[in-house]
Amino acid sequence: MAEKTVFKRIIDGEIPADIVYEDEHCLAFRDINPRAPTHVLLIPKAEIPTLDDLSEADHALAGHLLLAVGKVAKTLGIEGAYRVVANCGAEVGQEVMHVHFHVLAGRPLGWPPG
Ligand code: 5GP
Repeated sequence: MAEKTVFKRIIDGEIPADIVYEDEHCLAFRDINPRAPTHVLLIPKAEIPTLDDLSEADHALAGHLLLAVGKVAKTLGIEGAYRVVANCGAEVGQEVMHVHFHVLAGRPLGWPPG
């Protein structure tokens, strides 16, 4: 069996995380190496490696995650002033092969991103 990702280990409670939001289908916690004053990772509890691995069967989950982004923003008090980033694939910097959205806020964020 493939080794668990660090995010699966957080879901399973094997390693600690600073959780800011949780529901039946997803979990959001602060990034261990924050790139902005607010840097939270939102992940599905289902083990899906990359955005490319989402299928039609994940239709409801995909919508759920997007709505959860807004709930996380509200919880953190950053509505209207945050950026959501999802790296898809090692080539663009995805290190943890479990779908996740970075939610970043609290400093000016340049555009286009690096
Ligand atoms: P990626 O580069 O895959 O898009 O983002 C992975 C993110 O996970 C990185 O920003 C990294 O700092 C974060 N990360 C890696 N390991 C851990 C961990 O054990 N705990 C937490 N909270 N974040 C982690």
